[in-house]
Amino acid sequence: MLILCNRCNNTTDARLNKKTGKVICMNCSEEITAVTPQTINALRNMREYLEESKQSFAFQCDKCKERKQGLVARDGVKVVCGTCGEEMQVSSLMRQTMKDLGYYQS
Ligand SMILES: [Zn+2]
Ligand SMILES: [Zn+2]
Repeated sequence: MLILCNRCNNTTDARLNKKTGKVICMNCSEEITAVTPQTINALRNMREYLEESKQSFAFQCDKCKERKQGLVARDGVKVVCGTCGEEMQVSSLMRQTMKDLGYYQS
């Protein structure tokens, strides 16, 4: 979720630290203090947790109802859930990045 960090003044894809409940900036790794409880709730609802940022290319899966590792299908034209194989809505730019890094379905 894009939030303006009040430490480094960059707009960042902020994550919620599940344990501390703090919102963390992905640019400077500092806590963003200028957030409302509504923002924290929204991050929680979207499961934008800090741990999951380490898991590469996790997207919301409609079938699993949670964020799962996405993989490029063998035909290379879509990204599917690594758990159930359901197609995931991913931008073509993201798909290309995944291809470049070799995140293909086995
Ligand atoms: Zn920052
Ligand atoms: Zn799935």
